[in-house]
Amino acid sequence: MTEHVRVRFAPSPTGHLHIGGARTAVYNWAFARRHGGTFVLRIEDTDPERSTEENTQAILRAMEWLGLDHDEGPDVGGPYGPYRQTERAHLYADALERLKERGSVYPCFCTPEELERKREEARARGGFAGYDRTCRLIPQEEAQRRIESGEPHTWRLKVPLERGDVVFDDLVRGEMRFPISAIDDLIVVRSDGTPTYNFAVAVDDATMRITHVIRGDDHISNTPKQILIYEALGLEPPEFAHLSMIWGPDGKRLSKRHGATSVEAYREMGYLPVALLNYLALLGWSLDGETTVIDRDTLVANFSLERVSRNPAIFDAEKLEWLNGVYIRQMSAEEFVERMVPVLVEAGLLRAEEVAARREWLLALAPLVSERIKRLDEIVAMVRFLFEDVAIDDRAREAVLAKPGAATALAAAREALSGVASWDAPSIEAALRPLPERLGMKPKAVFQALRVAVTGTTVSPPLFESLELLGRERSLARIEAAQPLAAE
Ligand code: GLU
Repeated sequence: MTEHVRVRFAPSPTGHLHIGGARTAVYNWAFARRHGGTFVLRIEDTDPERSTEENTQAILRAMEWLGLDHDEGPDVGGPYGPYRQTERAHLYADALERLKERGSVYPCFCTPEELERKREEARARGGFAGYDRTCRLIPQEEAQRRIESGEPHTWRLKVPLERGDVVFDDLVRGEMRFPISAIDDLIVVRSDGTPTYNFAVAVDDATMRITHVIRGDDHISNTPKQILIYEALGLEPPEFAHLSMIWGPDGKRLSKRHGATSVEAYREMGYLPVALLNYLALLGWSLDGETTVIDRDTLVANFSLERVSRNPAIFDAEKLEWLNGVYIRQMSAEEFVERMVPVLVEAGLLRAEEVAARREWLLALAPLVSERIKRLDEIVAMVRFLFEDVAIDDRAREAVLAKPGAATALAAAREALSGVASWDAPSIEAALRPLPERLGMKPKAVFQALRVAVTGTTVSPPLFESLELLGRERSLARIEAAQPLAAE
């Protein structure tokens, strides 16, 4: 690739960044970085009713969280700004002037009612449902006179009927062909002077010098229209790459029915940005057909549109969760503490000012937790017993403490633990290991009773380490408190 690659991600701020949009952003970003190009963020906020600044900010935050840095955009500026469509009215006006000069557009005076009537007639005939091109035949002087008299009008593209099919070589899907006869004389500027969607996008991509348009294939029917606008402006269209849809496991387009769909929801559920980036990168692109864990640098070094699949990608929430667990387990204790502390503070288990003093303790806790969770939002339930007294959960009581021998096990454990000289996991283990044999009980029965007494549940980090972290006094007090609840 000799030209300087310029790609863009162009979200409409009508909602938060969702999985499909994020994947489009990842591919644009990776393509730009792979080719030493420029990644532009453009906000398509022309729908005034549904676009909000709050959504724009949420999209920016989600991209930053994922590590998708852009080189030009509304927040960082750049040489081809502004980067919000609502601020680009003058550029659409200039482009319309150019189309007028080139004789590529004509004013259309048909009223909405007339257009509706024509559409209905066309439907009844079963013919071409587009505009019947009545106003294309109005002589220029007459049109000019009607405009000057203030008659409301839109501007339509004069589709070159003699041109032949619109063909482009999609970088993912191969040759795409659209018969010119099926393309409407589309409106480029409405009667209120605002540009239509396709006009704004084509003008923006042209004026922002975009070389590759990488977007969802729900836009594929817009592409021939945008190509005709480029041609009408006398410009060379960019390359196009249309990404297949993302489906839920049931083969239907991914939607809220399938669970969380926004990037923000995944952040809140305790996903790591690297894990989500990794997952999205492989949702329709593959390194070699096998690799499932791939870091940012490998992605950037290898991304290519040739390896993007034409088939719909299936969103597999379990695989994403598994991948998140892989990344959590890869973290060092220091890294995990960084992640764990805000979660604990937020849950009210730890105060920010205690963190420094408890650092060693937190570092010891980190691996016990990180090896057992797939999402950061599982931390709180797993460690709550270390921070506050927890009631023993009913199921654990029934299943474990109600078993004969539980009280004997707890009494013996308490006695053995009172004699432990140095309160650390190996010494605790050495004191407790001989108990089952001595009591003639199964190890599981003894240790589960102890686990329930101390943690309140049957699932917790490893027992001996948990006792160490809980401390001698609290451990012994909890065993004592549980004894009356246990069966003899
Ligand atoms: N704003 C459009 C969307 O959010 C994207 C348009 C494009 O990429 O050309 O679907």
